[in-house]
Amino acid sequence: MSYVEEVIDKITKENPGEAEFHQTLNEVYRSIEVAVEANEKQYREDALLERLANPERQIKFRVPWVDDNGQVQVNTGYRVEFNSAIGPYKGGLRFHPSVNIGIIKFLGFEQIFKNSLTGLPIGGGKGGSNFDPKGKSDREVMAFCQSFMNELYRHIGQFKDVPAGDIGVGGREIGYLFGQYKRLTKLYEGVLTGKGLSFGGSLARTEATGYGLLYFAQEMLKANGESFEGKRVTVSGSGNVAIYAIEKATQLGALPVTASDSTGWVYDPNGIDVALLKEIKEVKRGRMSDYAAVRESAEYHEGRGVWEIEADVALPCATQNELNLDDAKTLVKNNTLAVAEGANMPTTLDATKYLQEKGVLFGPAKAANAGGVAVSALEMSQNSERLQWTFEEVDTRLQNIMKNIFEQIETTCKKYEAGTDYVLGANVAGFEKVADAMQAQGI
Ligand code: GLU
Repeated sequence: MSYVEEVIDKITKENPGEAEFHQTLNEVYRSIEVAVEANEKQYREDALLERLANPERQIKFRVPWVDDNGQVQVNTGYRVEFNSAIGPYKGGLRFHPSVNIGIIKFLGFEQIFKNSLTGLPIGGGKGGSNFDPKGKSDREVMAFCQSFMNELYRHIGQFKDVPAGDIGVGGREIGYLFGQYKRLTKLYEGVLTGKGLSFGGSLARTEATGYGLLYFAQEMLKANGESFEGKRVTVSGSGNVAIYAIEKATQLGALPVTASDSTGWVYDPNGIDVALLKEIKEVKRGRMSDYAAVRESAEYHEGRGVWEIEADVALPCATQNELNLDDAKTLVKNNTLAVAEGANMPTTLDATKYLQEKGVLFGPAKAANAGGVAVSALEMSQNSERLQWTFEEVDTRLQNIMKNIFEQIETTCKKYEAGTDYVLGANVAGFEKVADAMQAQGI
């Protein structure tokens, strides 16, 4: 067994039942094998891959709160501080009923390499809860966020660990969390990112993940003699990532024709009306069926199905494992040119492999959706210097960061003669920097 295989085997056995974490461990470690081989003796002696796959710290806590009927509810909170080799732990909080330790570890592990690729000094972490904000009143969400922070505050800080949003955690939740941190600590500091613009947030943070995804995909297309001009694009999801991916796709001259949520999806051959989508999702917290009800050109379907719609570029922006092997076969049959991942690990391992084998350009999440966390790091910079940059300044930096990520990947692909295997390029480039920092800092 190779060193990589041995470690995957060991870590999997030591952490049973963490399916999503096992999946990302397999994806990352198998693809960095070429780089590991070059330093195998040293890495083995230092147990580098074992250390990297074990979080520095895992925090699990009780979150009691009172609902609108006066009933006490109890949820579980998590923060996994995975790796601080290159900076303070950085990564979002996910509030969703599916959340468990395996999901938080998968997201935290991904975050290490993603954050490394941004070129900014941020380590990897992730947290969240099995709390479901859907259908809850603002007061219930506030009560939950305050209780969550009553434990989390002692673990985080601007130089220690800086959480942000993820699925189920947007501006409203970050506001409540920040308020409670301040009440408990008396510190007005950049301890969370994605804050409101009136209290230390960064312009363009809301747009960053979706815009960054398009900037990355644009570089990937350009390197292969293509562009977004006139292209049909399918998008899944209708949250923060999907909305701004759709907006930027339209600005770049493409036609985004789908969006979805957990109950159904919309096909709008005239192009998704992003103003309407924002109104329904960001203001009214409504459903995709509400979009179809007011937009004549749109068809609404229950269940899943956006990948059946013919498109040149597919952008999965909903959640993990939402694009499987059958979907990949449909994309290939429909001559899809490129897939770029807006969500974290939305494509299953076999689907990714299939797409790559069939010559579909594939931009992995760690690289393609790094714009969100990159602008979070820029928010930290602005908080440190007590300034707020203009939208243009942040957006220009975001574009440069995404360009730079693609360049790093291409250079790595060249170095290892990996062609357009951007999965290998992203994982190896992200890994090498973290590995160097860990080696330099000793045991
Ligand atoms: N949750 C986002 C991600 O998956 C952003 C994290 C952050 O801004 O810290 O990268």
